[in-house]
Amino acid sequence: MTSLQPGKARRILLKLSGEALGGQSGFGIEPEILSATAAQIRKVQEHGVQVVLVIGGGNIFRGAALQKAGLDRVAGDQMGMLATVMNGLAMRDELVRQGGECVLMSAYGIPSISAQYSAVQGREILSKGQALIVAGGTGSPFFTTDTAAILRGVELCCDEVFKATKVDGIYTADPMKDKNAQRFDRLSFDEVLKRELEVMDLTAFALARDHQMSIRVFSMNKEGALLRASLGEDEGTLVCTTGV
Ligand code: UDP
Repeated sequence: MTSLQPGKARRILLKLSGEALGGQSGFGIEPEILSATAAQIRKVQEHGVQVVLVIGGGNIFRGAALQKAGLDRVAGDQMGMLATVMNGLAMRDELVRQGGECVLMSAYGIPSISAQYSAVQGREILSKGQALIVAGGTGSPFFTTDTAAILRGVELCCDEVFKATKVDGIYTADPMKDKNAQRFDRLSFDEVLKRELEVMDLTAFALARDHQMSIRVFSMNKEGALLRASLGEDEGTLVCTTGV
């Protein structure tokens, strides 16, 4: 596997769900998962790829679930967004412990905890080769971190947004339920809509389509998948303007 040429740095945004950090239970933060994920990210950086991370908060709080329990949706979503900051703090700590340089920004500044997100400063940080974690979602309730991932991906001029899932791409049907399900290597945005395939929520998806931000879906559990995808090799399913 070759490293990318200096001067041609690829910039990727990795969207991790909060649940992924929670391991088997999907709750809280599993130290081993955190450490293994950070190690994969460090490897990508060592190959000269610039990395933005957007982490969800579903392992701690989700606004919609809190609303069902009787809480106001806005307050619940704010708790969800704060949960993404907690995950961001944990990931920054782990990346730094593994020898990396990493800056945590949040959609809303929390003095002494995280800097206020700025696209201009974010791009500078990335150009220096430091990892950038952008927490706090979009900063607004009723959105998801998938939407935040596309938004930040566009703002920070990323080449691709990676959506890490349990499955190694997008299939014709749920591969856990249907043995004949087939994986797509590449799909156009229009084809995803025509086939009613679930990639991201519609707000996130529409933003990606409008700004021609390619989305790569793959599994972090597959050995070397993140590195291959980061180096621009075929991995999982790529959703982009041209499709097959
Ligand atoms: N959230 C929000 N606005 C955003 C992003 C997230 O209100 O822009 C809240 C929302 O309550 C959501 C929670 O934060 O349920 C955690 O985010 P998400 O569910 O997207 O996390 P994931 O499923 O990726 O772990």
